Amino acid sequence: MDKIPIITHSHTEFIDITRKVEELLEKQSAKEGICYIYVPHTTAAITINENADPSVKEDMIHDLNRMVPWNGHYTHREGNAAAHIKSTLVGSSVSVPVSLGKLALGTWQGIYFCEFDGPRRREVFVQIMKHE
Ligand code: ZN
Repeated sequence: MDKIPIITHSHTEFIDITRKVEELLEKQSAKEGICYIYVPHTTAAITINENADPSVKEDMIHDLNRMVPWNGHYTHREGNAAAHIKSTLVGSSVSVPVSLGKLALGTWQGIYFCEFDGPRRREVFVQIMKHE
């Protein structure tokens, strides 16, 4: 298993890690298979969405914050209940097919690490299952 270290700089932030995952595929010479990408954190998440127009990322952050406001009627004493809820809403893993040595992402898709309680040091686990 590979690990991608990530340092976040904002409280809420989406970071495109597509290129870093592709570098792992190249390092392992994976041609065909499945790339499983997992976030081992309870206040962060991972998702796939458009990486061409940055306004999409901004809209997602804005509306997640609107749906799950930081100051709500929560019981979690640590004070970051909103980050835990957003982590569950967005999810902790994605799987992407690997074909001809590349991530089989759509033209406009990128893989985003989603920080909901930064800034922090984070990591993403990547397990490449080869079928060849
Ligand atoms: Zn907490």
